[in-house]
Amino acid sequence: MNSWKSITSLNYPQIQELQNQRLHHFINTHVYPFSPYYRKIFDDNKIDPRQIRRKEDLKRIPYISKADLISKDNPQKYKDFILHPDKILISRYWSKARLLNLAARSMLQGRRLEDDLAREYRPVFMTFTTGTTNSPVPFMYSRYDLDNLNLSGSRMVGLFNITGDERIMNLFPFAPHLAFWQTFFGAIEADVFSLSTGGGKVMGTEGTLIALGRIKPAVILGVPSYIYHLLRVAQTKGHDLSFLKKIVLGAARVTPGYKQKLSDMVAAQGARNVNILGTYGFTEARTAWAECPTDNHVSSGYHLYPDKEIFEIIDPDTGEVRDDRQDGELVYTSLDSRASVMLRYRTGDIVKGGISHGPCPYCGRMTLRLSSDITRLYDNKDIHLSKVKGTLVNFSHFAEVINDIPQVDEWQLEIRKHNNDPYEVDEIVIYVTPQAGADQNMLSNLIIDKLTGATEVAPNQIEFIPLNEMVKRLELETANKEKRILDSRPS
Ligand SMILES: [Zn+2]
Repeated sequence: MNSWKSITSLNYPQIQELQNQRLHHFINTHVYPFSPYYRKIFDDNKIDPRQIRRKEDLKRIPYISKADLISKDNPQKYKDFILHPDKILISRYWSKARLLNLAARSMLQGRRLEDDLAREYRPVFMTFTTGTTNSPVPFMYSRYDLDNLNLSGSRMVGLFNITGDERIMNLFPFAPHLAFWQTFFGAIEADVFSLSTGGGKVMGTEGTLIALGRIKPAVILGVPSYIYHLLRVAQTKGHDLSFLKKIVLGAARVTPGYKQKLSDMVAAQGARNVNILGTYGFTEARTAWAECPTDNHVSSGYHLYPDKEIFEIIDPDTGEVRDDRQDGELVYTSLDSRASVMLRYRTGDIVKGGISHGPCPYCGRMTLRLSSDITRLYDNKDIHLSKVKGTLVNFSHFAEVINDIPQVDEWQLEIRKHNNDPYEVDEIVIYVTPQAGADQNMLSNLIIDKLTGATEVAPNQIEFIPLNEMVKRLELETANKEKRILDSRPS
């Protein structure tokens, strides 16, 4: 029942049944007893935890959002979301039968129940959210949670069809962030060789390319901007990339046009029919989900883990729950976590196309699939959402539109004050490094047309700059996260 293979062959009513059982168990056995925060929420709202039996019952529990995790007066706010079992709570909320069962299980394995409980609940690892506007929020993992992190990593390795004789190169920046560790642990759990380079900042692009040539990985994983940069340098230097079969991109939305650009670039270096796969994950869920391989860079959608979480789709304005298959904001509820626990966490991410039930047309797995058409609001959102000329602009849309244009090699957007005068109007300048042979006038008009059509905000100026200058401006080789959008306005 618990193997991934059996879970991915459940039909939708069976998935619902599994989720309902897990939800009831999780809330009554772990969350309500050991989370003072949630116990108070349940009690204040007169919610009897025993009455939470189905996904629909979640509606009674209030949402939480980023704002609930951050408090200026209380930097330790994140601790509210960590489960704190102790002897008194355990004897109050757990039945004698359950305790005897657990004690017997521990004894049979030659261990003490206390040690097993510590292993299950005690935080031993953490990752935290990125972003400079908000202070980072830590999320804790116990050994139990790390087992789940390993599990989701190995599920992804299976989804990508990575075999034991293939090698993985983990190019995510070395940091206490989910993507690096999800990849690191997933490869180990799946018994696949991996080298974690730490991204461009640690080994440098030159060093990374040398390692790439020696290891000859079938699969590379990393942040889209850095993978793109690395492969472009490989192309310029004429490196052989024929060993490459899969490129897995994390931490940003990737459009089919962007996948095509990457695919053309590696094809020129001998890697044909490379699958380019997107992933979706967030620190608060302490896991990531992935696409499976398809032809022509079509997205299969992200394969969810129905035994580990429930996603709801809601109206972002009213908070009303919508049908799974509709568009709306994604709300995450964990079904199996221990240290940090999130119930009904509003991600702020807007999905178009919702969640599909039924078999995946590409791999046949029955697991629920989340549309990859997701606009992220909170991911590295330093200034992705910003007021320009008094209008709130979501710069994620800019990135999608410009990345999709084949003649654009690199770009950067700068928001600045006219003449650098703080009292002047805002202006948007887009710096562009065109692909070789692109007509600058035509490209300039194309970018303005596409941006105005998609965002109703026209850039004031488009400036063409050479690649080496662009690499420096973007800090592609020196920063963990490239400076794609730059706000130079005095604050
Ligand atoms: Zn699939």
